[in-house]
Amino acid sequence: MNSENAEYDVVVVGAGAAGLNAALLLGRARRKVLVVDAGGPRNAPAAHMHGFLSRDGLPPSTLLELGRAEIARYGVRLVRGRVEEIEHGFSVRLEGGPVIGTRRVLVATGLYDELPAIPGVREQWGKDVLHCPYCHGYEVADQPLAVLGTHPGAVHQALLLRQWSDDVVFLPHTLDLTAEDRERLDARGLRVVEGKIDHLVVEEGRLRGVELADGRVLPRAAVFLFPRMVPHDQLLTRLGCAKDDSGLVGTDRTGRTSVPGVWAAGNVVDPRAQVVTAAGMGSSAAFALNADLLDEDVRTAVERHRAASAPTR
Ligand SMILES: Cc1cc2nc3c(=O)[nH]c(=O)nc-3n(C[C@H](O)[C@H](O)[C@H](O)COP(=O)(O)OP(=O)(O)OC[C@H]3O[C@@H](n4cnc5c(N)ncnc54)[C@H](O)[C@@H]3O)c2cc1C
Repeated sequence: MNSENAEYDVVVVGAGAAGLNAALLLGRARRKVLVVDAGGPRNAPAAHMHGFLSRDGLPPSTLLELGRAEIARYGVRLVRGRVEEIEHGFSVRLEGGPVIGTRRVLVATGLYDELPAIPGVREQWGKDVLHCPYCHGYEVADQPLAVLGTHPGAVHQALLLRQWSDDVVFLPHTLDLTAEDRERLDARGLRVVEGKIDHLVVEEGRLRGVELADGRVLPRAAVFLFPRMVPHDQLLTRLGCAKDDSGLVGTDRTGRTSVPGVWAAGNVVDPRAQVVTAAGMGSSAAFALNADLLDEDVRTAVERHRAASAPTR
């Protein structure tokens, strides 16, 4: 790493909870920090965010507005844009823009939720088509719910969701249920309704039910499904960051990847991370990044000090 002439100590890619919390700590540690964000955090479709102590029920956009204002107080620069490439050294190239030199990088680019191609799902995503009972189960508790069998994780999701309502229908759709699955669903009091899903019935912007291919309509207040979660990890993999057995870019507990100088935090390396977890991961990464920079600062200072105090002939 050639740190000598870098413009920034750290470039943070992504200004969701993970990136902003890292930037907050690094700014307060008086590091030179640039945050680049393309906009569109994962939970943008949801009106409210839950499960974050002291912030429960806040619109997701408000949390990020507050975070952006906080980092600005400490001199952190935030630019809207997309990072196209990071080259070793490090050079961060923005789409159609300049190349920025930095000593370290933190990638906090989140993930993409790939949704099943069932009409109505995309439009209602985050409103009454949901995936996380911990985030939104309480708000639809005791109402008629359904779980769409569009992912192998759907059976577990249904067994879990039963905790919030005693009227949960499981729609296997194209999923083959094992005898054990059926027994567990039955034992938990979940009704299995066979048949291919045709579309979601939506009226005036609200989900009314699920229509099956044979024309039956199941009135439901909300449906849950398990999306295929695709991390935005191309910047990391192109830098050579190794993946672990689960197919995710591997990090240690501080977010350090296998490539020196490259850290990652939030959903890009942990799809299960909630907002509060992603923020915590950003905070841990900031501590470790600052310690790594400090090691280098001390090494450089000692070299200069020795050179300056060496006897001249
Ligand atoms: C519908 C829905 C509702 C949810 N509700 C809740 C909830 O109530 N409570 C909760 O705790 N969790 C909730 N979550 C989960 C929550 O969205 C994540 O935990 C959180 O967004 C993870 O934060 P992050 O910083 O890792 O990623 P993100 O918030 O997704 O932020 C990543 C940022 O990186 C930017 N980015 C990506 N690539 C680039 C690039 N190349 N260059 C520059 N910028 C880039 C993106 O534009 C984005 O702004 C919900 C998720 C969904 C889908």
